[in-house]
Amino acid sequence: MHLHTTASDGQLRPSELVQLARQHAFNAIAITDHDTTAGIPEAQQTAQGWPVIVPGIELSAEDDGVDVHVLGYDIDIENAPFQAELARFREDRLGRARRIVDRLAQLGLPVAYERVLHLADGGSVGRPHIARALLEAGHVESVRDAFDRYLYTGGPAYVARARLTPEAAIALIHSAAGVAVLAHPGLVPHYFPLIEERLIPAGLDGLEIMHPKNPEAVRQNLQALARRYDLLITGGSDFHRPGDPIGAVQPPADSLHLLRQRVARRAQP
Ligand SMILES: [Zn+2]
Ligand SMILES: [Zn+2]
Repeated sequence: MHLHTTASDGQLRPSELVQLARQHAFNAIAITDHDTTAGIPEAQQTAQGWPVIVPGIELSAEDDGVDVHVLGYDIDIENAPFQAELARFREDRLGRARRIVDRLAQLGLPVAYERVLHLADGGSVGRPHIARALLEAGHVESVRDAFDRYLYTGGPAYVARARLTPEAAIALIHSAAGVAVLAHPGLVPHYFPLIEERLIPAGLDGLEIMHPKNPEAVRQNLQALARRYDLLITGGSDFHRPGDPIGAVQPPADSLHLLRQRVARRAQP
């Protein structure tokens, strides 16, 4: 329930991801690219119903200087105001990438902006693509090194994004009839008060409890929150590229069913 394609920062085309899902005999997959649903039609066309393609999204919100990702499931990808907002986020990403490249040039680390765009392959351009361009240009020893030295949040080449609050991300997903789930809460140090005091009142529908970056203790806390507030439990491997252990982390077997029940309940007057 958490897979990326070349429409954002994944390395498989949507059609290739569908083939891989079939090899693993998955009945359903959710494609959750960053800020775009562009990969979903190709996946649906390839799949023709097997596996079922759940139209999803992963929005990057921010709170207190920390990235807070919110997943949307079963969204109406034809919703025009929703798509207009996504387009605005993507333009913001492009402007930001351009400013990071400018800053690197000032630091004596030139990379070609066109090369960065090429590495993004038409998807949502981001710091990982800039890191790869730095690596290619021989300025760093690895992608990790690029982040550790220049691109980390607050680093010498860091440029902040226009901010989306987690509450606004939830509202945006709801506006397109989707279900909003907090992604990998284990990466958010203040996840507990954030969920309880702000995201539940904002209408959060679920928690991505099964995720490789959620330690066991965090999972237990999340289970308790999910029980207390009747939240959906989802999970996924956050697959980006071949070699990532696809399917190693899976949601509870009934989670798609429960998710669809929730969508149906909300659609009732
Ligand atoms: Zn994420
Ligand atoms: Zn992701």
